Amino acid sequence: CGIVGYIGNNDSKEILLKGLEKLEYRGYDSAGIALRNERGIHVFKEKGRIADLRGIVDEDVMANIGIGHTRWATHGVPSKVNSHPHQSTSGRFTLVHNGVIENYDLLKREFLTDVTFVSETDTEVIVQMIELFVQEGLEVLEAFRKTLTLLHGSYALALLDAQDDETIYVAKNKSPLLVGLGDDFNVVASDAMAMIQVTNQYLELMDKEIVIVKKNDVTIQNLNGDIISRVPFTAELDASDIEKGTYP
Ligand code: GLU
Repeated sequence: CGIVGYIGNNDSKEILLKGLEKLEYRGYDSAGIALRNERGIHVFKEKGRIADLRGIVDEDVMANIGIGHTRWATHGVPSKVNSHPHQSTSGRFTLVHNGVIENYDLLKREFLTDVTFVSETDTEVIVQMIELFVQEGLEVLEAFRKTLTLLHGSYALALLDAQDDETIYVAKNKSPLLVGLGDDFNVVASDAMAMIQVTNQYLELMDKEIVIVKKNDVTIQNLNGDIISRVPFTAELDASDIEKGTYP
């Protein structure tokens, strides 16, 4: 399973799909992407292989922002409806998640009794909680942070807001996730191999950090909102080896 994301000036579709193909070795049963452009957020997802996902992605949707996911089902059978991305009821928030939320049932009963869920996943609880807290008056970053403090379990997350064309929100706890740095773009990936074609500069993330990823800026915070500075590392993978498929 794995996560990818892109924000920049280019069309994100192919970058995301190629990234997901590079993460195929991690194992998965379904895959999906969300593309954000001026007309809104467009979700494409399918049970099966990345090739199946490619078959249903609308070639005509151009988007400078996108997130993608390969799923290894833990809660809910492998199916189109349980595949990620998942969206909040209003459609404002779109989320991909790797990991397991252990207290999702408790959170559902405590906060989300009025919500109609479309999937059987633990993940949908996260995106609905973010929406709930925004509806209650919190800023998106605050709602994201409050949600994370309530989660027990493991997660690598990437979140899109339909009302914000400049940001991918990212967080991790006990699941791998990196932010890759580019010139006029930035990326998100479960491992550097997924995005080595576009950059070899990466920020390692620590558990319970939130990252606000913009095209020209990346800000890491802890759950208290303190800004964390981090020096990028250079990934030593050779892109030509990866193209030839000779990497391990
Ligand atoms: N627990 C989530 C699900 O079952 C995410 C699984 C994953 O890591 O891909 O949908």
